[in-house]
Amino acid sequence: MSEKSIFTRIYEGEIPSEIIAETDNAFAIRDIAPKAPVHLLVIPKTGEYRNVVELAAGDPALLAEMIGLANSLAAEHADGDFRLVFNTGEGAGQTVFHVHAHVLAGTLTEESLG
Ligand code: 5GP
Repeated sequence: MSEKSIFTRIYEGEIPSEIIAETDNAFAIRDIAPKAPVHLLVIPKTGEYRNVVELAAGDPALLAEMIGLANSLAAEHADGDFRLVFNTGEGAGQTVFHVHAHVLAGTLTEESLG
């Protein structure tokens, strides 16, 4: 079995981080190093998919569920508009290989690309 990701450890309570919302199969936390006025992460509860390409192929319904959660969060934490970023691969800045969506809102800058 591969090592648990940091997000699995957060979901299981091993690493403290407030879970601000959840659906059946996904949860949301605040990014520890925000790059926008609102910077949240939407994460599947299990870490079997490394990136959004694998997720879209393996469980498109879960991808849709994550997008729905991102939309609800943007309505609650911002004015409803948001940018959704899936860094895919080290070269694109991905550091955690447990698929997650960055939900960015507020006044966005180039830095917000994450
Ligand atoms: P990536 O670079 O893989 O697209 O995104 C990983 C994100 O997870 C980064 O934006 C980073 O700031 C965030 N992150 C890493 N470790 C933690 C943590 O322990 N707690 C929280 N809340 N966010 C984290």
